[in-house]
Amino acid sequence: MHDTYVNAVLKAGGIPVLIPMGIPAEKLGHLAGALDGLLLTGGGDIAVERFNGEPHFRVGSVDPQRDELEISLARHAAQAGLPFLGICRGIQVINVALGGTLYTDIADQFSKEIRHDCYPGWPRDFPAHAVELEKGSRFNAIFGKQTLEVNSFHHQAVKELAPGLIATAFAPDGLIEGVELLHHSFGLGVQWHPECMPESPEMQTLFRNFIEAAEKLN
Ligand code: MN
Repeated sequence: MHDTYVNAVLKAGGIPVLIPMGIPAEKLGHLAGALDGLLLTGGGDIAVERFNGEPHFRVGSVDPQRDELEISLARHAAQAGLPFLGICRGIQVINVALGGTLYTDIADQFSKEIRHDCYPGWPRDFPAHAVELEKGSRFNAIFGKQTLEVNSFHHQAVKELAPGLIATAFAPDGLIEGVELLHHSFGLGVQWHPECMPESPEMQTLFRNFIEAAEKLN
């Protein structure tokens, strides 16, 4: 776990608790019930079998145990109204957990128009591309604007949206960069890394909104 996630939650007034692997499936509902919010962090690719995805040679760092844990917790959070925020791999976990699919390699299956995989060697706060936020969306309300400059460290992305999810943030090439779960207190996913832009007032506001939603559960 990168400390950038821990620091972002702390700065926003939350208390981060890391969840270890190995918790039995039948205990995860109980665990989710004990949390005020769920932050799904970045990481390796989800196993293609999870969403009937197209195998690709750049699919890497797959961890079936982590897939199982996070997909289960995301489903619990969606069903129980537990506030959740997915970041990078996290937005992909949310979409797959709820029945959506992924491009398993953007450059080969979607477009090379914009470079989304700015790694390794790029500053973590490098503004790689803009995102357009849908008018009237949750993101539009949180950020108070319709365009944001974001970083981009992903080679996969949301393809077909899961039922109940809507896409409300898009890169200039049309790629989905943000989703919201309808009829939920706070169910958001972003494809960029807000925790790597700690000085950005907009990204601080995103974490603050997430923590405020979690505080409301008490
Ligand atoms: Mn991107």
